[in-house]
Amino acid sequence: MVINGRELSASLKAQMAAQVVELTKQYGRAPHLVVILVGEDPGSVSYVTGKSKAADEVGIRNTTLRRDASISEQELLDLIAELNADDTVDGILVQLPLPKHIDEDKVIAAIAVEKDVDGFHPLNVARLWLKQSCVLPCTPKGIIKLLKSADIEISGKEAVVIGRSNIVGLPVAKLLTDENATVTVAHSRTRNLAEVTRRADILVVAIGKERFVTADMIKPGAVVIDVGVNRDSRNGKLCGDVDFETCEPVASYITKVPGGVGPMTICCLMENTIECFVKRMNR
Ligand code: NAP
Repeated sequence: MVINGRELSASLKAQMAAQVVELTKQYGRAPHLVVILVGEDPGSVSYVTGKSKAADEVGIRNTTLRRDASISEQELLDLIAELNADDTVDGILVQLPLPKHIDEDKVIAAIAVEKDVDGFHPLNVARLWLKQSCVLPCTPKGIIKLLKSADIEISGKEAVVIGRSNIVGLPVAKLLTDENATVTVAHSRTRNLAEVTRRADILVVAIGKERFVTADMIKPGAVVIDVGVNRDSRNGKLCGDVDFETCEPVASYITKVPGGVGPMTICCLMENTIECFVKRMNR
């Protein structure tokens, strides 16, 4: 069965739209998300456009601040400081990657933690690992929602995550651990990767290599979540890290690219923005 992230995110966005109407009545204004886009990277432009469209659907006020790729690190930090101090701004997102002359870690740490809708601020990361209340990173949060939407039992299951990035692999491994899965994190130095992945009841793939996971790497009946976003070298279209055609018959549940994890990431960004807004309003 295909777990449809597009459908799930549409229904969650409809619920959030109704919630935002109520919140707007209650607090006298809608939540406000500010997205900073530095440069013209086509991938980043398209992600930012998607986020703004979703915010419009949900009724979240959203502002995209475009800055030239030549912006200095200090100018960007000053802009963030301004937005931190602006009481009408509830969420700040700096679209990554940033140009090489800007230190991403420094920029992320400069965002006020209560406005960090991406959940990338070091304090939010620490709180996640300490199991404290925090803003969860959008993609891992969306993956857990996808699994739960299909009533997939996570507790006690063998989960394997391929990829150990700070934004996907490691936090999703943590969330799966919190859901009581037994989790293995695999990466480029993992030996006998196929042997490891074949143990998985739940396989999450976040590598960034087109159709890397093939049917022989999957245990029959496994749940396969494909996070990858790649260009298919055969036809230029978007494709995942999992070879969908060959893996789909082997898996019990599988996600598609596009239409799987991607829409859930954006949906969770909307949820995080609403969460930050409500928390700020109740300070
Ligand atoms: P990343 O930072 O580049 O990390 C990739 C990970 O894959 C690394 O941990 C790397 O291992 C591992 N890897 C690379 N080659 C491997 C191999 N041959 N065997 C096993 N592991 C291997 O990427 P990311 O930011 O996590 O993103 C991963 C993919 O997800 C990308 O396609 C990205 O575009 C996509 N993505 C999608 C969404 C969404 O919303 N759909 C959100 C975020 C990212 P090492 O650590 O050993 O180098």
